[in-house]
Amino acid sequence: MNSNKTIIPFRGKNEEWHEILSSGICSADQLACHFPINKNNIRGVVKKYPMRINSYYFSLIKKEHDPFWKQAVPDVMELNDDSGFEDPLSEEFQSPVLNLIHRYPDRVLFMVSNQCAVYCRFCMRKRCVGDKTVVTDESIQAGIEYIKKETAIRDVILSGGDPFLLEDGALEGILKQVRAIDHVDIIRIHTRIPCTLPQRVTENLVYMLKQFHPLFINTHFNHPDEITSEAACACALLADAGIPLGCQTVLLKGVNDDPEIMIRLMKKLLQIRVKPYYIHHPDMVKGTGHFRSPVNAGLRIVKALHGHISGLCVPHYMIDLPGGAGKVPLLPEYAKINNNGIMQVENHKGEVFEYPAG
Ligand SMILES: *Cc1c(COP(=O)(O)O)cnc(C)c1O
Repeated sequence: MNSNKTIIPFRGKNEEWHEILSSGICSADQLACHFPINKNNIRGVVKKYPMRINSYYFSLIKKEHDPFWKQAVPDVMELNDDSGFEDPLSEEFQSPVLNLIHRYPDRVLFMVSNQCAVYCRFCMRKRCVGDKTVVTDESIQAGIEYIKKETAIRDVILSGGDPFLLEDGALEGILKQVRAIDHVDIIRIHTRIPCTLPQRVTENLVYMLKQFHPLFINTHFNHPDEITSEAACACALLADAGIPLGCQTVLLKGVNDDPEIMIRLMKKLLQIRVKPYYIHHPDMVKGTGHFRSPVNAGLRIVKALHGHISGLCVPHYMIDLPGGAGKVPLLPEYAKINNNGIMQVENHKGEVFEYPAG
């Protein structure tokens, strides 16, 4: 293991991203300096679900209700949502220790931070992000001890909150301990930083991460306009370090529930060497009902992708079943097997062909 002391970063300084974060918008009063909003309404929402729009992401908002605004600015609809549950995936029920979810035998989701660079209004963990008491040094140690003892675990996903909001040293400490566990094959980091605060991806961070291969990153872009030159630069640094990059997009009403937008997003992701991994159907999280599109909108998008653009651009469309029953891919019905053993298959042009089902 190496110390970073001799490396002089030529791109990205810690002071820069800290400054972008601390100069962000966290209150109705701050927001009202820029946009004509109803302060009381926003205050009411922020009391329950915190707001943070760092100054980089805030600079992307061009007008009210554009895709950036919708993802980041609180809306009273969050408080008037009769649908959904605080924890629809029963994450807390499947947590053998605080902040670690063990749903599938061979992999765990380990929450190592509860802070984010932007508090997304559609967050699946709306119930707990932004609350400083949730993740502690003790909870992180308990998680590591659990992973050590459970020898079936071979894939550890660091998530949150956003793991990249930890300081380099704190994240390195966690990665070192996880990498030292024999039965852990791969480590994944789930982070929205390349999209929401790309300046956080410094040379030093990347140099540190490189020690822990095989390391994978899944990031999270929801709209093609989020792929700015800053975001592209962050992804290039990570990809050049040999870290395979994936993207988990969330289907969001009024943001990207449109085949044309999704096609543009998927193509742009490939250009910055990010492989679309999943499109998530939004979970039944209380306070996010206004983002939920019908499943048919997702299926229509999948149909517009398959066969029409490079197969590398086509993610799986996933639904996460309530109660922690797991993720399931959803597909348009391309094939039907008749009683006579013949399968009818539809291609991307909508033409139907017969194929022996064997
Ligand atoms: C989504 C998820 C995973 C990872 O699933 P993959 O399909 O392997 O990406 C692991 N654990 C939990 C609790 C999850 O929600």
